[in-house]
Amino acid sequence: MLPFKLAYDRRYDLHLGPHIFPSQKYRLVYEALLREKLAEPADFLPPEPASDEDVLRVHSHEYVRKLKTGALSLSELMRLEIPYSPKTVEAFWLAAGGSILAARRALADGFAGNIGGGFHHAFPDHGEGFCMIHDVAIAIRRLQADAAVKAAMVVDTDVHQGNGTAAIFSGDQTVFTLSIHQENNYPLPKPPSNMDLNLPDGVGDAEYLAILEKHLALAFHQFHPDLMVYLGGADPYREDQLGGLALTIEGLRRRDQLVFEHARRHGVPVAITLAGGYARRVDDTVRIHVNTILAARDLAVKQTSGARG
Ligand SMILES: [Zn+2]
Repeated sequence: MLPFKLAYDRRYDLHLGPHIFPSQKYRLVYEALLREKLAEPADFLPPEPASDEDVLRVHSHEYVRKLKTGALSLSELMRLEIPYSPKTVEAFWLAAGGSILAARRALADGFAGNIGGGFHHAFPDHGEGFCMIHDVAIAIRRLQADAAVKAAMVVDTDVHQGNGTAAIFSGDQTVFTLSIHQENNYPLPKPPSNMDLNLPDGVGDAEYLAILEKHLALAFHQFHPDLMVYLGGADPYREDQLGGLALTIEGLRRRDQLVFEHARRHGVPVAITLAGGYARRVDDTVRIHVNTILAARDLAVKQTSGARG
């Protein structure tokens, strides 16, 4: 049994067939956690889809109307890079609901996760890079609307810069955005986050972890959030087909630990989302995501037993 809850729905799978985006990974992560007895069925909570009201806190009426009526233009579809269907819309609304649920549960339990989400390339008026709507921004806006949090920090370790996140929260003093990514990669241009760590090609574990650690300390020195939303991208992995960094599976787990340790040190609850992952072997992507959940578990268990002792 996990010391926190995970949002998951089997309809997260977009059933894309032979596509570079392995959206079956959500189901595979869920199944691996159960099969390896790392989690039990009661650890998973089914999300409600986000309401249109929730989505409209981030996205324009015009874009939401196009999504709901199938009215995207050919160029908008090409930019999205995944096929459109009402089921796809349903999957993204559910993933956004999962991130809202994870954010709420994180406030209650210290940690929570969404076995999905992290769609950081979605903008208010369009989607791109496999991201239709921005679940993380929707979750933050919902919790702010509920007065459950005032300030939030987004820590994004996907190999691609969080351009949608940066654009949505640009000029917003209540949300601090940190993105650590490969500079020479999609997206271009990169709208500025509060903190962009632009890494050269081929950076490996030691250098990556040193840069991340230094800047997490700086970020928490500058900003005191009520909630962190973490995007634990699996694509800084050295075997990733869409990434050019060189982290190992062990290095990625250290990365997750580092982020969670900083949050715990500052008493900040963490909601985890998965974001990208395009390893040659989908099993590696699944392992990296499972490890993110385990890194949170290990720290949550340690904290609990520490408090008891
Ligand atoms: Zn990515």
